Amino acid sequence: MPSVVTHTAVRSADVAVIGGGIIGRSVASSAARRGMSVIVVEPGAGTFGTSSANAGHLVPSHVVPFASPGMVRAGLHSLLVRDGAFAVAPRAAVGLVPWLWRFARCSTAANVQRGVPVLRHLLHTTVQEVRRLATAGATLDHRDGGILQVCSTAAGLQALRREADEWGHWGVRTEVLDSAALHAAEPLLTMAAIGAVRLVDDACFDPGLLLAAVTEEGHRHGVVSYDARAARIEPRGDRSARVHTSMGVLDVTRVVVAAGVWTPTLCRPLGARLPIASARGNSVTLPDAPKPNSPMLLHEQRLALSPLTQGLRVTGGYRLTRHEDRAVSSLRSHEIVRRAGQVLDLPVGTQPSNEWTGLRPATPDGLPIVGALPNAPCVLVASGHGMLGSSSGPGTGEVVAALLAGDELPFDPTVVAPGRFARKGSGR
Ligand SMILES: Cc1cc2nc3c(=O)[nH]c(=O)nc-3n(C[C@H](O)[C@H](O)[C@H](O)COP(=O)(O)OP(=O)(O)OC[C@H]3O[C@@H](n4cnc5c(N)ncnc54)[C@H](O)[C@@H]3O)c2cc1C
Repeated sequence: MPSVVTHTAVRSADVAVIGGGIIGRSVASSAARRGMSVIVVEPGAGTFGTSSANAGHLVPSHVVPFASPGMVRAGLHSLLVRDGAFAVAPRAAVGLVPWLWRFARCSTAANVQRGVPVLRHLLHTTVQEVRRLATAGATLDHRDGGILQVCSTAAGLQALRREADEWGHWGVRTEVLDSAALHAAEPLLTMAAIGAVRLVDDACFDPGLLLAAVTEEGHRHGVVSYDARAARIEPRGDRSARVHTSMGVLDVTRVVVAAGVWTPTLCRPLGARLPIASARGNSVTLPDAPKPNSPMLLHEQRLALSPLTQGLRVTGGYRLTRHEDRAVSSLRSHEIVRRAGQVLDLPVGTQPSNEWTGLRPATPDGLPIVGALPNAPCVLVASGHGMLGSSSGPGTGEVVAALLAGDELPFDPTVVAPGRFARKGSGR
């Protein structure tokens, strides 16, 4: 049986996965490795989504959910300054009010307490899965040794040291580098860089290669890719469902919707209103630029640097917007290169190339949505991973495969269940 099906047909399987980004492909591979028959429905090769050209930072350090104390103040400050870390597209602003309200209500210590065990499990399982794939021979352009958070102001360094202390309570290992140690380790940095905090256990890979490796492993275990768009999910009682696609109908026992920012549209007719917003970011990949030794986060410039074999990738931007908003902005790409050049010794006249935009599927509590829909138990959701999708994709695959097999999870499943948003006062 070919791995990629391109003709109209009626087919059946244990599981249909809608969406072939890192989450959908990871779910498919994990489920197939447990012996389930799986079809992935994805138009194209999955490169349309957000999983192919992001920063590829593998961050087991990021166990604290984005919605945490202090984030509302930081977000408001960002909105007031030019070029802040966080922005809202004016045309999307009205529609985003309920999401922003929920985000404000979720940014609490209680949300952190609930979220850390889940994120820790997803991130750490992903680290193990990435190591397993690398050991099995997959080319991932994987680089261990930590990520450097580089500062160019004393205030920035102080803030990062405070954050490092806080994260230390959750077991995150960090190391402070003064200016001399930083410049010895990274001769490409300009004197604007005054110090850094290394996130010791973090790493970096090429996200496009991870997506390809997970896809390939799934195909080797019998996953079939259906080159089609899912139009509608029709539950048939609690035990089966029909997926109507642009290429015909699939009859399956379970459906997993892993369609990134497009997930709510598919789930809405099933009675689920999932608050997933589109948080747009951009990247450029500069094939001829010199590369630092470590991946970096430039604190004041709000950029991520990834030294990949294909070039130096620079990513930035967090703009809540509509999911149609995918056009590449040359202005923004030039701005990214200019800001990187403040801290990194880039050759004069470096131009952006391989420009890309992606939409992070962002939830208001900063936690993914994983589990069965309350009104359609045979339909599971695996989405809403925000800025951590590549770092938690293979881990999510393992968790969803466990749910499909009826196994217990090592954390409280209600923390990430889709139904948490339906409860009264769900904004928490
Ligand atoms: C600038 C930027 C930098 C980032 N850096 C990092 C990082 O360093 N580390 C990290 O962990 N994460 C990072 N992320 C976040 C990460 O990219 C996302 O969390 C992740 O890619 C989400 O994966 P996904 O599979 O949920 O969605 P996607 O990759 O968007 O995949 C969804 C897929 O669903 C398909 N689809 C949609 N509708 C349908 C339909 N009706 N039928 C069939 N298929 C459908 C789409 O074609 C798409 O391929 C970054 C994101 C951005 C934007």
